[in-house]
Amino acid sequence: SPQQEPHHQKPIVLTIAGSDSSGGAGIQADIKAISATGGYACSVITALTAQNTQGVTAVHPTPQAMIQAQLDAVFSDLAVTSVKVGMLGDSETIRTVAAALRKYQPQHLVVDPVMVTANGDMLLADDAVHCLRTELLPLADVITPNLPEAAALLGVAIPEHLSEVEALFSGLQQLDCKAVLIKGGFLQQEARSPDWLLMGEQVRCFDTPRVMTGNTHGTGCTLSAALASYLGQGFSLEEAVERAKHYIDQAILAGSLVRIGHGRGPVGH
Ligand code: PLP
Repeated sequence: SPQQEPHHQKPIVLTIAGSDSSGGAGIQADIKAISATGGYACSVITALTAQNTQGVTAVHPTPQAMIQAQLDAVFSDLAVTSVKVGMLGDSETIRTVAAALRKYQPQHLVVDPVMVTANGDMLLADDAVHCLRTELLPLADVITPNLPEAAALLGVAIPEHLSEVEALFSGLQQLDCKAVLIKGGFLQQEARSPDWLLMGEQVRCFDTPRVMTGNTHGTGCTLSAALASYLGQGFSLEEAVERAKHYIDQAILAGSLVRIGHGRGPVGH
């Protein structure tokens, strides 16, 4: 009818990740972030986690055939423009997901190399780090490790001070992937929260003030999902990172004084 809104097609953004029953991280955070940044969200769930703000109590990996069925169902019907990959859990799942990405070739791919929660619970088998490096990183437009994940990818110690972070750059630049967004959020004694985008030899720092809050559950998921969403809307990598960083800063601020659960609370949206 003539009353209808003009047709606006949102980019279809797929998150391939684990479910977080507390709603703060994983698939749930991704769907909120994609929706809030103007994308249409769809999902492939790689594992169920039973968790709350205090920790993970159980993990139930999705059977490979069911992961495959979700991937085929989504890619064979929806025109997915951008994909974000989060928790994969083990090498088998990494291989299943990498094969689907090679087959369906979405335009944009953000890989968040999820390994461990902020509460210290493992979300990736130790022996899977090598598989992640060889199978998935070469397909990504950008990977978004936090400092412990960057250190694990390189097999080095976790930097504890700003001055130690730059020492990781050359190793990260040698990884087989197009770009790395390394996040400084774990440098808790810093007054600022810088992230660095490494593109070939080029390094660009995105530096914003740190929000002092314990409510940081889901920050990594939210940033990478927002980044995939903005890439899907056609922004360049640098522009998409700038926007995603702004989005996560606002989300952390929005949730900073909210009390949800008794542990490390979620970011707001
Ligand atoms: N994926 C799942 C399913 C999780 O439960 C978590 C953390 O709890 C993460 C990813 C990583 O969370 P964050 O965004 O806090 O790094």
